[in-house]
Amino acid sequence: MRIFLLGLAAACLVASCGEKAIEEEPAEPSGPPPLTLVIHGGAGAQAPGRYTAEEEAAYEAKLNEALETGYGVLEAGGSALDAVVATIVVMEDSPLFNAGKGSVFTRDGKNELDASIMDGATRNAGAVAGVTNVKSPIKLAREVMENSEHVMFAREGAEEFAERRGLEMVPPHYFYTERRWKSFEEALEKEKTESETSLPHDHKYGTVGAVALDAQGNLAAGTSTGGMTLKRFGRVGDVPIIGAGTFADNQSCAVSSTGWGEYFIRLTIARDICAQVEYAGKSVEDAAHDVIHNRLENLGGDGGVIALGANGEYAMPFNSAGMFRGVKNANGVQMVAIYGDEADE
Ligand code: ASP
Repeated sequence: MRIFLLGLAAACLVASCGEKAIEEEPAEPSGPPPLTLVIHGGAGAQAPGRYTAEEEAAYEAKLNEALETGYGVLEAGGSALDAVVATIVVMEDSPLFNAGKGSVFTRDGKNELDASIMDGATRNAGAVAGVTNVKSPIKLAREVMENSEHVMFAREGAEEFAERRGLEMVPPHYFYTERRWKSFEEALEKEKTESETSLPHDHKYGTVGAVALDAQGNLAAGTSTGGMTLKRFGRVGDVPIIGAGTFADNQSCAVSSTGWGEYFIRLTIARDICAQVEYAGKSVEDAAHDVIHNRLENLGGDGGVIALGANGEYAMPFNSAGMFRGVKNANGVQMVAIYGDEADE
């Protein structure tokens, strides 16, 4: 708009336009874009009836705690990056989500964690893959972004870097939870009768992510996961792949993904949404809807994203049965939801 008005003013100088022509132009939107935090706790088979009332309440309470924590950072003048990390740490530390404590098990009965983060102001990014003894993979991803010349570290190298940077290290069994071990055993059992790809989604999905818009107008996105149950051979999903699991650019939007990672990599889901916003001038909602409900679905994948534009517009589409999600912004919106039929505002 500013460029357009300058152009008009220049044209008017040449053509001696009257003041009236300029007055009739629509006014620029007033005020800064609203502080906004959008989160997800994984897309998958969360259909109504799957959880007891107590379990639903526990998920909702933790999602709200994550929102309050991250939004508190934004309100205190913290950066979008700080808010994203603070939010994700709450969910990594909770056994409810498939990230940090509570991560799913690989085929070998281990926990191998992936995470990534991106700064929309600088398009700097950091990612880690397959770490087994770093308490907070999202903090490690940020260390990679800010204190190395690289974007991604994997496995032992990532762990050595974490130690050198003084991050909190934990024994691998820290990530163990009985619930995930049970689903690992169930998945192994099921596999004897069904092919690996027909495993139910609840054995595959669940990840955490956050996108934020701060008082400086900067966007950031981050994602952290234990990956997919029964993953093997050093499988790495979309979460640490910049442009697939995570993307942020102040020129367009910030996105964090959750779902069947192989499809998200093949479709560069997060980047595609922001590219549609940037190059095709689409709204965040239209771009995210197209990528999830057309491109991802047509290829046979499923999952969802949270997406946030530099103007505060956000979207949370998914084509799985449900997605743990929530939003809090300076316009007074605060909601969390689990299932597909819940309104997202
Ligand atoms: N996208 C993650 C992966 O494929 C899983 C998830 O989102 O739950 O590793």
